[in-house]
Amino acid sequence: MSRRTRFYKFALNSLYYTGAHRALKGRFGGVGALLTLHHVQPDRPDDGFAPNRILAITPEFLDQTIRQIVALGYDIVSLSELHRRLREEDFRRPFVSFTLDDGYADNYTYAFPIFRKHEIPFTIYVCTGLMEGSVDQWWRTLEGIVRQEKRIEVELDGVHRVFTATTTRQECRIFDTIYWALRRMPLELQLSTMQSLRERYARDRDGARFRAPVLTWEMIAQMDDSGLLTLGAHTVNHFALAKLSDDEAREEMIRSSALIEQQTGKKPEHFAYPYGDALSAAQREFKMAEKLGFLTAVSTRKGVLLPEHAEHLHALPRISLNGDYQQARNVELFLGGLPFALFRGFRKLDVN
Ligand SMILES: [Zn+2]
Repeated sequence: MSRRTRFYKFALNSLYYTGAHRALKGRFGGVGALLTLHHVQPDRPDDGFAPNRILAITPEFLDQTIRQIVALGYDIVSLSELHRRLREEDFRRPFVSFTLDDGYADNYTYAFPIFRKHEIPFTIYVCTGLMEGSVDQWWRTLEGIVRQEKRIEVELDGVHRVFTATTTRQECRIFDTIYWALRRMPLELQLSTMQSLRERYARDRDGARFRAPVLTWEMIAQMDDSGLLTLGAHTVNHFALAKLSDDEAREEMIRSSALIEQQTGKKPEHFAYPYGDALSAAQREFKMAEKLGFLTAVSTRKGVLLPEHAEHLHALPRISLNGDYQQARNVELFLGGLPFALFRGFRKLDVN
């Protein structure tokens, strides 16, 4: 666990035990929340270095979270119902909507049975290139390389870097350094840097070695039959849209939507920006998603839903159910909205 994670855990615990989140719920709790999940899978043995663990929660935690949210008095709603409530200012009851990004097979294997058991609507934003295997899950490849290599040489931002790791803490630091350098690079450079890392260390030209299994259209059809699934678009190539030209970014949205429609007969009405932070999606992308006719589009900017978001339906914030924070009290804290208000300095809307 990184030092930062430890700090946040400490801060969240302190917040919880002061009870401040309950006292201030009316002020920061908003009218509802969107939850972000990626993987739902049984826990793997913890070898200390697992930077992508933040993207995975266990089936038990999902089950427990659903019960807890219901017990806290929230309605669990589909995205179209969430959209309706925001548009019509129907805030009589607080609401939560579950969303899962990318389209991993574990969504079908582990999450779907739980949603079905509770009859909970849910949304999966599928990235069509990930589904077809044409897109590298480079964050997993990078984790695999850092785990396996004692020494990594790589050119980052024009500087030849040599990393050596003997401890878990060093591995975490190396992963973070390379990961964020890649995220901040122009796209071409990011792709070629990752390609050279892969060829040099992973002996894995197409990224298959560390790939997590993805959904098939057959799995999607079965989930769709339950009437609980909303399928959303999440681009073709999982690029940070802000790194693309206008045309390229628009093309990513249009093509992914068209491919989903081709396969399912339904045109997706909802969209999620890949990565979804302020560096990856902002005003230009929000306007684009709106113009292309998506009813809503979600980011990964952190926060609860406020009545004002009715005017910003293509810049909706979400709360990540993060593998490093799988505790009931954190879910209650996050839904209360206070942590985001605190970490963001009480600026209410984050939509630019
Ligand atoms: Zn994604």
